[in-house]
Amino acid sequence: MAVIIFKTFYICSLYKDFRMRREFDFLVIGSGIAGLSYALKVAKYGSVAVVSKTELKETNTAYAQGGISSVTYKPDSFEKHIEDTLIAGDGLCKVEAVKKVVTEAPEQIKQLLSWGTKFDKNKEGKFDLHREGGHSEYRILHHKDNTGSEIQRALIEEVKHHPSISVFENHFAVDIITQHHLGRVTEPWMTDIECYGVYILNKETGAVETVLAKTTMMATGGIGSVYQTTTNPLIATGDGIAMVFRAKGIIENMEFVQFHPTSLYNLAQRPSFLITEAMRGYGGILRRGNGQEFMEEYDSRGCLAPRDIVARAIDNELKNSGEEFVYLDVTHKDSDVTREHFPNIYKKCLSLGIDITKDMIPVVPAAHYLCGGIKVDLKGKSSILNLYAAGECASTGLHGANRLASNSLIEALVFADAAAKDASRRITEVGLNHRIPDWNDEGTSHPEEMILITQSNKEVQQIMSKYVGIVRSNIRLNRAYDRLEVLYRETEALFQDSKVSEKICHLRNKINLGYLIIKMARKRKESRGLHYNIDFPEKLPNELL
Ligand SMILES: Cc1cc2nc3c(=O)[nH]c(=O)nc-3n(C[C@H](O)[C@H](O)[C@H](O)COP(=O)(O)OP(=O)(O)OC[C@H]3O[C@@H](n4cnc5c(N)ncnc54)[C@H](O)[C@@H]3O)c2cc1C
Repeated sequence: MAVIIFKTFYICSLYKDFRMRREFDFLVIGSGIAGLSYALKVAKYGSVAVVSKTELKETNTAYAQGGISSVTYKPDSFEKHIEDTLIAGDGLCKVEAVKKVVTEAPEQIKQLLSWGTKFDKNKEGKFDLHREGGHSEYRILHHKDNTGSEIQRALIEEVKHHPSISVFENHFAVDIITQHHLGRVTEPWMTDIECYGVYILNKETGAVETVLAKTTMMATGGIGSVYQTTTNPLIATGDGIAMVFRAKGIIENMEFVQFHPTSLYNLAQRPSFLITEAMRGYGGILRRGNGQEFMEEYDSRGCLAPRDIVARAIDNELKNSGEEFVYLDVTHKDSDVTREHFPNIYKKCLSLGIDITKDMIPVVPAAHYLCGGIKVDLKGKSSILNLYAAGECASTGLHGANRLASNSLIEALVFADAAAKDASRRITEVGLNHRIPDWNDEGTSHPEEMILITQSNKEVQQIMSKYVGIVRSNIRLNRAYDRLEVLYRETEALFQDSKVSEKICHLRNKINLGYLIIKMARKRKESRGLHYNIDFPEKLPNELL
């Protein structure tokens, strides 16, 4: 049996005294909507640890503006929501996953409400539903234009008061602890690998602690930071996906990276500030610098076309014009309504001297969401035994080749729920593995030149943005692969010789993710959904995939 991590171990009793070992029934990596909702559900069945690499509140979840989709009132129906999701997914959705999310959504919304989340209502006391690009009906529940932070607030409140949940902020998960059980495969699609917990860097002490758990939930969120321009906060470095990849779990659909068409053009700010798609649903119009509308030239749905089409159209406009941004215009709408519906966007733009009720908003596309990730089944189980995944780091089959707006928060809730049910049902059958050795980084030291890591980090982001962005080609993908390989070799060598730090782990994870995105993009000999390659502009018939 071999422990699948990249360091060698040895246990020396003196050394061990300094090491911290913790044990839990349920271990959760990530404090966004997926991680916290899962934690609250499993906490009835045992001890829970929630680990977050910064503060609990710093998540992609907290940045979500538009809202959360769920069929609420007629004339909307499950059939329509399913149909819209399948159309967006461009032939690659798993129908069972789509049906599951859509039909279980109303129940999960009730659960969110019971945890104290507030959604806006109209004068009649009914939920004020928004409609976004790709949705055929009004079905987006929202809290002003800061839905995510409202959900995050309510979940944190519940978690902090729960007696069975221990919270570890500023603890960074480095690698999952696994062993192979040759020949023992519990289900045909799964591997023979088993997970026993995670090695975690305590950022305050610098020590790597061993956290043993009967089951582990990976809820580490998105990957936006792999790119130069992103709407994601800095935490979105895809750590969970990279950890599972290194442990030889199954990762899929990484080529489907969604670029949000409209982030506020402001080179000084990272992450880029998002201008929600609800603004186009509200009647916002995309215009060239000279004021001309252009979306009708690309798609009959105009500004309400799905975001990949809008992002590619803007990318094309920028390449043709040489300009750095296009405009989103809501100046023709009622000023009071605009201010009331989009208070945060109004305030943010005003702080930069743009009054959105009078001025057009300069916008550019930015890396926003990953459709693929850690492959899971309908119970949220990954290909590694006792390891679950939910939220943006998981690939459930809901999104296929493209995500319908506002479907991700609800997907995270539904699959965290499925995983919680499965994990709590099995918890009495699973034991802890006490034979796991502690992390050993004796003989290593901190890199003398941290600038090397900073520089490599910038290079990864440049490579990914220049060659693996919205429009791809064989030559660009090959170039990206070759450049990344050099960085991979340099970084692995540095990692082996260095004391673990968050900085080097982030770099290593980003390189792993870049490699996965490029590898899967090169394998796809077609253009579909979010993946567009000018050398294979057509979509292949599904039987040839
Ligand atoms: C600007 C913006 C707007 C959006 N708007 C919408 C919207 O309107 N509707 C919608 O449905 N979706 C929206 N999304 C997408 C949605 O917010 C995310 O997909 C979703 O919140 C992801 O939730 P999560 O729980 O998977 O991850 P997150 O909320 O990102 O949480 C990830 C957690 O993992 C932790 N973590 C990561 N790596 C490690 C590590 N190595 N060790 C320890 N902890 C770690 C982080 O600290 C964090 O706590 C938006 C996203 C952005 C960025």
